Amino acid sequence: MGDLMKGKRGLVMGVANHNSIAWGAAKALSNQGAEIALTYQGEAFGKRVRPLAEEIGSTLLMDCDVEDIASVDRVFETLKAEWGTIDFLVHALAFSDKNELKGLYADTSRDNFARTMLISCFSFTEITRRATDIMTSGGSLLTLTYGGATRVMPNYNVMGVAKAALEASVRYLAADYGPRNIRVNAVSAGPVRTLAGAGVSDARLMLNYQRKNAPLRRSVSVDEVGGSILYLLSDLANGVTGEIHYVDSGYSIMSMPALDELKT
Ligand code: NAD
Repeated sequence: MGDLMKGKRGLVMGVANHNSIAWGAAKALSNQGAEIALTYQGEAFGKRVRPLAEEIGSTLLMDCDVEDIASVDRVFETLKAEWGTIDFLVHALAFSDKNELKGLYADTSRDNFARTMLISCFSFTEITRRATDIMTSGGSLLTLTYGGATRVMPNYNVMGVAKAALEASVRYLAADYGPRNIRVNAVSAGPVRTLAGAGVSDARLMLNYQRKNAPLRRSVSVDEVGGSILYLLSDLANGVTGEIHYVDSGYSIMSMPALDELKT
């Protein structure tokens, strides 16, 4: 326990279960004194998220599907009515049809391209607009991306294209809101075993490959990702905005597989 986030309130979106990156973030923020509201997508997830909310003393728990803009509006109306203002927001959600997270990117359908972009990319812009309306004395927003945004990862396909657009959105939003002392950043996490992660075909192979070839020779945990999210949302990162911060055991710096792997 510490008090890095004491007196700050914010919303964490995207907890599905205790393996979620959003849960890693919620725990790290709560451990440092933040008061947290959570959203979940539909009642099936609500049942799993309710006990987690209790663990961190979160009493504001709301159903939100970003495809339904009225449900997004309700979340921010509730936050305004209950708290008046917020200090931070975590956007840790994404979706694409798993039938298209395999094979060729070129085979992506028009419908799934549009749906993937709306949920995994544009929702961050729509949410940022609403969140900044109730950030009256500065603030910090954070989204989650993956290395497949900048380099080709097999099977990541349309999600890589959506993450590239999401990373560009982070820079544009940082420029838009910087004059109001509102910071916008992303954490680019290495592969983690989550529901969303498992949707990508051969996810286990990719996780093992990165484990063997990343400089730290291991994958990252949701608590490690949560720790970096905490830093970016806290006053320790007051000079940081528009940044894509890698939390991937160093995998992204490598230009070839580790020599010890090649020699075995
Ligand atoms: P997760 O399955 O635990 O979380 C994904 C969340 O997205 C779920 O809570 C789900 O309900 C939510 N979601 C999907 N569609 C939604 C919609 N229409 N409206 C509202 N919520 C919706 O998986 P995760 O891996 O923790 O994913 C969190 C974020 O981290 C995602 O943006 C993901 O792309 C990103 N990420 C994951 C990895 C990884 O390897 N798991 C790596 C880098 C980045």
